[in-house]
Amino acid sequence: MEASSSPTISTGGQFVAATPDNSQWALTGRSISQATPAGMTEGPGGTASPSNGNITNRRVLILNQNYEPLSLCTVRRAIVMTLRGAAEVVETHTFLAVRTVSHAFPAPSVVRLGQYIRPPTRNVILNRKNLLIRDNYRCQYCGVKLANLTIDHIRPRQKGGEDTWENLVCACPRCNSMKGDRTPERAGMKLLSRPRRPHQINFIRQFAANGDPAWRPYLFME
Ligand SMILES: [Zn+2]
Repeated sequence: MEASSSPTISTGGQFVAATPDNSQWALTGRSISQATPAGMTEGPGGTASPSNGNITNRRVLILNQNYEPLSLCTVRRAIVMTLRGAAEVVETHTFLAVRTVSHAFPAPSVVRLGQYIRPPTRNVILNRKNLLIRDNYRCQYCGVKLANLTIDHIRPRQKGGEDTWENLVCACPRCNSMKGDRTPERAGMKLLSRPRRPHQINFIRQFAANGDPAWRPYLFME
């Protein structure tokens, strides 16, 4: 989190990755030797291979340059990105060290890109399950949380309403039947919020339960 834990240095606006022996890689308040002696060995060819517990296959949260969550990758990929200068480490896995022939450094848990990239427009599949996740399992008219929510076409199908993220919301059976084949305006009902295509963050959050607790602040979960 702190700038001091950043493994990158900025030189005249250029984004440069620090080498692993840069002192900034040191664990805050804990020496490398105290970290779990496990992780990755790097052969002469520079190819990292997991040696213990597949640490390099653990998930890492990738943040955009503006700290917006972008996606997930493996520790292995995060290290490559960092060593190439494309990303900086902002959080590390506590107690997990990655070792190379000559260095050891904490395994990254969250990395941040050095340059802003336009978030890829991944097509989150439009289906009932993903609508429920987007709407947080709440009726978008009265706010009730129910197990048996229905899917409502805001602009009814009979009136040309399409199956789109913007036109579908979760609704409790009561609100759905009250609205009937009318628009919310006609039915005198108000949506809690304007439905949108879900942000990637909603889906990254699903992984956060099994991910590192260090991710939570970046996913706005606390
Ligand atoms: Zn309702």
